[in-house]
Amino acid sequence: MPKRDIRGSRAIVTGASSGIGRALVMELSRQGADVVATARRDDRLRALSEEISAQGGRIEIVVGDITDPQTREKTIQAVHSRFGGLDILVNNAGVGALGLFEHADPARARHVMEVNFFALVEMTRLAFPLLKQGTNPIVVNISSILGHRGAPYSSEYSASKFAVQGFSEAIRAEFTRHEIDVLVVSPGTTQTEFFQSVVERVGEPTWPEHAAVTAEQVARRIVRAMKSGRHEIIPYGWGKVLCWLNRLSPALVDRIMARYA
Ligand code: NDP
Repeated sequence: MPKRDIRGSRAIVTGASSGIGRALVMELSRQGADVVATARRDDRLRALSEEISAQGGRIEIVVGDITDPQTREKTIQAVHSRFGGLDILVNNAGVGALGLFEHADPARARHVMEVNFFALVEMTRLAFPLLKQGTNPIVVNISSILGHRGAPYSSEYSASKFAVQGFSEAIRAEFTRHEIDVLVVSPGTTQTEFFQSVVERVGEPTWPEHAAVTAEQVARRIVRAMKSGRHEIIPYGWGKVLCWLNRLSPALVDRIMARYA
């Protein structure tokens, strides 16, 4: 018996113009949810909206920067006025930055934290009153494998995703009395525009090539986890291995990571 029925639910997905966010909007809509999709790229959101509408789904788009309080307000207002409430908040918008910490522009850490952490916190704060009144409400926070194990060339990004992890664990306990679930998703390498959209790139580690999963595969795993009431998922085989190895012997993983720095 699934814990949550997607059909008829009302969702917000941030970072919906590409990658995992876009695939999630498609999957949620396919399963019968009404969705408010937000991101900065107007053309991408319009194309998504046309695709969903052509399939008979209901979607509202909000164009704007998620670090701007007005975008967040508009997104909440859109779900309230168009669909009458909110059951699913997916905090997916995120950016990376690649490069050694010693070479990083100081603005990089602030930018990454603004998008990946502060915007997620503030969306959750704004959505909370609506979620409390929702049906089987859930917050889905997109973290990363690097929210379990920091990696060289990604210091600020790793820190932002550790922050997401800690925040999510804390609110999961607090939200229990309101019957709001919190699911944390920790993807590994996924085929999206993520690595083309990094805010800064100064050199790169030479990681061994691991087959990346598709955004659609990740989206299907996320929706399945939402339905079954899971709290944590790692939709990536190598990611699970890394997390397991890091728990078993963090010193060994430190040595492996140092080889790539
Ligand atoms: P994409 O680059 O394809 O998607 C990122 C999304 O975030 C886009 O829709 C982008 O929209 C949006 N976004 C970025 N900055 C802002 C901003 N300032 N305001 C509003 N929207 C913004 O990458 P992914 O789909 O891979 O990333 C989705 C999530 O998955 C992120 O949180 C990422 O950290 C996480 N992740 C991804 C991994 C991967 O290998 N791909 C691995 C682990 C985690 P727009 O540019 O139109 O604003």
